[in-house]
Amino acid sequence: YAAKRHRTAVELWRPELAAEQSTDLRLQSELRAAIDQGQLELHYQKLVDARTGEARSLEALVRWRHPRHGLLLPGAFLPGAERSEVINPLTTWVLADAVGQAARWHHAGRPIPVAVNLPAPVLVHDGIVDEIGGLLARHGLPGCSLIVEITESAVLTRPEQSAQRLRGLRDLGVRVAVDDFGSGYTSLALLTQLPLDELKLDRAFVHRIHDERDRAIVEAVASMARGLGLTLVAEGVEDQATADILAGAGFDLLQGYHFGRPMPPSLEMAIAG
Ligand code: C2E
Ligand code: MG
Ligand code: MG
Ligand code: MG
Repeated sequence: YAAKRHRTAVELWRPELAAEQSTDLRLQSELRAAIDQGQLELHYQKLVDARTGEARSLEALVRWRHPRHGLLLPGAFLPGAERSEVINPLTTWVLADAVGQAARWHHAGRPIPVAVNLPAPVLVHDGIVDEIGGLLARHGLPGCSLIVEITESAVLTRPEQSAQRLRGLRDLGVRVAVDDFGSGYTSLALLTQLPLDELKLDRAFVHRIHDERDRAIVEAVASMARGLGLTLVAEGVEDQATADILAGAGFDLLQGYHFGRPMPPSLEMAIAG
């Protein structure tokens, strides 16, 4: 009966697509409830000075304490969330919680910048600069307490809008980092046009740094970042040998299991060292 009445729809129907869409719908409503019920939490991972090993900032990473499935990592729910509208309330929650935590550290005499991942669909929103500005003001925090991490794909899809938002954020004093650099479609020209502060090399390159050719790429990226005056960051540093190579190549900040795993917030983690 459906085949006769909705011929086109039936021709386009693919089981994988239908399955993905219904999973997304279920995820979307479960996530909405999870946000309301306080099941999301942020863990923090430090970024250290490549020379001294002192903590310089903390990246907020979302987790979902699911009543049945336990602690879920973002890989289990973020891709689906980013395909739907629920990414908006999720990001609003992440921003509010991260800025609130940054304020607690700040007012406890341990000011340390907190980095938040800002997904592409949210970066292009009209209200995002005001939302972040309002949060900082309500908590009495300077803009330099916050770093936003964006991906290349975000700025590539809507370059003008993204650049405008980023300028607005920087006017607040917020710093801007390009995350997972080298993992997507890189437009080097775009890098020079965007208002950026940090470049985070994707961990795939970091893991291959013992290979001579990959090291050549990393060194080229390092010299480009220096030329553009950007703070150069490596993620996924898992051992001292890799940390030494990166420090030697001129990296400013290092992040990875070697220096500490993402953890629930505590006062100690905001203390340099
Ligand atoms: P990312 O922003 O590139 O974050 C770094 C990821 O690498 C984190 O995974 C972190 O736990 C992991 N990592 C840190 N050190 C090491 C290491 O030494 N080795 C390896 N193999 N991995 C390491 P996580 O927490 O699972 O997050 C995955 C991605 O999910 C993040 O990648 C980010 O893109 C996204 N994400 C996390 N939290 C949020 C959030 O609050 N909002 C949004 N929109 N995205 C988020
Ligand atoms: Mg990140
Ligand atoms: Mg990253
Ligand atoms: Mg990454």
